[in-house]
Amino acid sequence: MTVRAPAGFAALITAAGRGIRAGAGQPKQWRDLAGRPVLDHTIRAFSGFDRIVLVVHPDDMDHAIDRYGGAVTLVAGADSRAASVRAGLTALEGQASHVLIHDGARPLVPDAVIAGVIAALQDGAQAAAPALPVSDALWRGDGGRVTATTPRDGLHRAQTPQGFALPVILAAHRDHPLQAADDVELALAAGVEVAITQGAEDNLKITFPDDFTRAERILRTDMDIRLGNGYDVHAFTQGDHVTLCGVRVPHDAGLLGHSDADVGMHALTDAIYGALAQGDIGRHFPPSDPQWKGADSAIFLAHAATLARDKGYRIANADVTLICEAPKIGPHAAAMAHRLSQIMGLEESRISVKATTSERLGFTGRREGIAAIATAALIKE
Ligand code: MG
Repeated sequence: MTVRAPAGFAALITAAGRGIRAGAGQPKQWRDLAGRPVLDHTIRAFSGFDRIVLVVHPDDMDHAIDRYGGAVTLVAGADSRAASVRAGLTALEGQASHVLIHDGARPLVPDAVIAGVIAALQDGAQAAAPALPVSDALWRGDGGRVTATTPRDGLHRAQTPQGFALPVILAAHRDHPLQAADDVELALAAGVEVAITQGAEDNLKITFPDDFTRAERILRTDMDIRLGNGYDVHAFTQGDHVTLCGVRVPHDAGLLGHSDADVGMHALTDAIYGALAQGDIGRHFPPSDPQWKGADSAIFLAHAATLARDKGYRIANADVTLICEAPKIGPHAAAMAHRLSQIMGLEESRISVKATTSERLGFTGRREGIAAIATAALIKE
């Protein structure tokens, strides 16, 4: 789930830094975290905002346009964090009442943290930002030795998103063009009171190589993985071809069915509905409805795939097994996987189509029809 932001609230994500302390030679916000760039996770956390401004380094602009062009407003960053934020804020001027400014390198910001900042601003705060009280003792050190202790009373670890009434933070940036550590520092310099909201340990800022390991561990424990299975059978009838997984295969019989009788695609569609606990094809496309007579089963599969996406799931993989003595599936399996991949919008490497006979046993063995089983795995985004 993502937080649905009120109208007038915008998100500004800063990703213009060149931070390479996290290792691997490329800026941390573009590095892989659980199969996708860090920034993908960060942007997704704010997908409930009508407007997202993403500030990127000019060198990354082409790449950012390719990856996020339709979803966010892209702004080229400048040579300091404060200047980059200022560029993003300027792009929002007159377009929003409030803005939440967030580090691109904090990909795991929990919904509750975002919601807390929004609530404080809705309650009338001009500025609100999440933080956690410091619980460890604080020492000053030099040369590997403790030189002093520091009282931790009242100390907090600052996080983002830091939220502001847009005109307030714009004015603070313009009046105090200092190289601030964050926007709260600028707001304070401008005399703005900043409310502290609840931060979260999971809202880590990826800085060092170990942070990737920790972030992946957090993502894994949060992962909602769903499996669905589907099974279908269609009987042979007179004809000269069958349609299997969207591919026309010449045969000395056809398949009997209300739609195009694509038994493989039906099994896969039911697997996706099953993973979503959304019934089966018959529930969404009743056979009693004449409009589905002779229908291309791609309609059903596309519907299931869209439903999965609408409910916030990504299809991780699909595996279809066709069970028949004939026709031979092997020569067509790659074309079938290709067709399924087009319909589902999923890479072919995540789709398997294979076949088996039933050793001449049972109805498939007697060549009375074709059966199919399918499994689909869905991952909550
Ligand atoms: Mg069927």
